Amino acid sequence: MLKQESITDGLTGLRNRRYFDQRISEEVALSRRYKLPLTLMLVDVDHFKKINDTYGHTVGDEVLKKLSQIILSVVRDSDIVARYGGEEIVIITPNTTKEDAGILAERLREKVEQTKVATIATTQEVVQVTISIGVCALSAVITDQEALLEESDQALYLAKKYGRNRVVISNW
Ligand code: GH3
Ligand code: MG
Ligand code: MG
Repeated sequence: MLKQESITDGLTGLRNRRYFDQRISEEVALSRRYKLPLTLMLVDVDHFKKINDTYGHTVGDEVLKKLSQIILSVVRDSDIVARYGGEEIVIITPNTTKEDAGILAERLREKVEQTKVATIATTQEVVQVTISIGVCALSAVITDQEALLEESDQALYLAKKYGRNRVVISNW
């Protein structure tokens, strides 16, 4: 149980950042050795600060929990889903090409957009959110975990810049 706690994020139940940091280097090493594709996705809630400001932090927390459930319902068991930062979630998809990961990311984006992620008890008001996703894979240019993270962050930045609620796949 101690072991389980040390790798789990308390709020969302996803893997935590420490687990991610460990797993990503293992997955990069495996991918290189066996020449298998490896893709990483960075997911960030759009205008999440506004959710907290409008409905309060507790509703914000509820939204993060629901989002985590949606992600787990869409990915494979072999994919690794971790809370990367506050409202950012990272997904490692081993043995998956950038193109297939892009399809998965788009399916996830749509599902989140269509889900009622919380209901306000007093007013019965329905809360909905959208997410932006940056996708990047190991390649001839992206050769280590630092580059993988930097480039998915760059793709996420572009997704925000182009108007949010979208998936951007790195060209590299
Ligand atoms: P953008 O579309 O550019 O991503 O806008 P944003 O408002 O989502 O981005 P920003 O990074 O400014 O805000 C993230 C917010 O997430 C700020 C912080 O208070 C909130 N946050 C981080 N962790 C938690 C948490 O565990 N629970 C709640 N309720 N809020 C959190
Ligand atoms: Mg953020
Ligand atoms: Mg955000």
